[in-house]
Amino acid sequence: MRFSKNVTKVQPSATLALNAKASEMKTLGLDVVDLSAGQPDFETPENIEAAAIKAIKAGKVSGYTAATGLPELKKAIIDRVKVDYGVTYKPSEVVVTTGAKFALYTALQVLLNQGDEVLIPIPGWVSYTEQVRLAGGVPVSVASLAGDYKVTVDELEAARTDKTKLIILNSPQNPTGVIYSREDLTQIGNWAVKNDIIIISDDIYNHLVYNGHQFHALIDISEAIRKQTILIHGLSKSYSMTGWRVGYALGDERITKVMGILIGHATGNPTAVSQYAAIEALTGPQESVEVMRRSFEERLNTVYPLLKNIPGFELKEKPAGAFYLFINVKNAVLNSGFTTTEAFCEALLEQKYVAVVPGRSFGMPDYIRISYAASMAQLKEGIIRIQDFVNGKA
Ligand code: PLP
Repeated sequence: MRFSKNVTKVQPSATLALNAKASEMKTLGLDVVDLSAGQPDFETPENIEAAAIKAIKAGKVSGYTAATGLPELKKAIIDRVKVDYGVTYKPSEVVVTTGAKFALYTALQVLLNQGDEVLIPIPGWVSYTEQVRLAGGVPVSVASLAGDYKVTVDELEAARTDKTKLIILNSPQNPTGVIYSREDLTQIGNWAVKNDIIIISDDIYNHLVYNGHQFHALIDISEAIRKQTILIHGLSKSYSMTGWRVGYALGDERITKVMGILIGHATGNPTAVSQYAAIEALTGPQESVEVMRRSFEERLNTVYPLLKNIPGFELKEKPAGAFYLFINVKNAVLNSGFTTTEAFCEALLEQKYVAVVPGRSFGMPDYIRISYAASMAQLKEGIIRIQDFVNGKA
């Protein structure tokens, strides 16, 4: 079959593939501990569900809405961003999308030409590189030489060419939980402005920050940096709304206008009922966000020392945000007689029914990603099984 060149370069999502295998095993009745998920394990807060039901009952959801989102939702987004970031956007600078994933996809589609280069700090979320390829761009991985998972201006400058068009930053970062400091972001932001490189700032985990760490934004550093930045956001993680599929992008209205045209031809509006739920999420009580955050923090503080004790598992400092641990398991893989992390993960799933994600798709093959978006009981059980697996116990 003569497929499009851009599509044939793209790899399937490793996290979704693993999730699918773990779900299949669960439906077969196997006692799977799934630590591969990129989603909170909580029910969407009740007030949000109630708002959705109310909108259905009021007959508000059967028709199309504006392709880039309900005006009331855009207002709710603008108000939330003002509270969280202290920065004000106009409605014309906002597009609502089918998840943050599609906000990112749309931004890349409207900005990239064939061969344009995009700098992606490694490790990075699996979809960045593939979405860049889908838009005809060339993903350029930039590793942190300090080994702290945070790239510096010097590292970015070394990777910059006259084809560099964009950089994708993600803080708190999936899969490491690392947060860039304000100084880091100021330096990177100024460098991007100076070199006319557009910044995509994926802030989807901004509320999930632990143990006194603080989230820092790019868009409130300077007006020049704000103008150079497309903010990608969504409700999936903070409000436990992955299934509702609501994300959004904010940025220069020349860009959001074209993103809106693309959305109009691609998906049309995000599902109407989800938009009403999103209005409640953003404008209603925020206590549930804090309850979930505290629960993630407690799990992190419990599992981090347990995982650190597993022979051959190397963990850096305790992560500051998101809900993942990224672990160098090279020694554990070799000591258990495997040659690749993928084979190790596959055997772990098949023999101990524990699902974790191999690091290759995040750009680091010697690592695994463990999600602590699972109940404390599941986490403890999963860690016991991993420990037994590494120790060669049946
Ligand atoms: N950005 C990052 C860093 C993510 O980890 C994810 C989901 O895993 C997304 C974006 C996409 O989120 P959404 O569910 O809003 O599409």
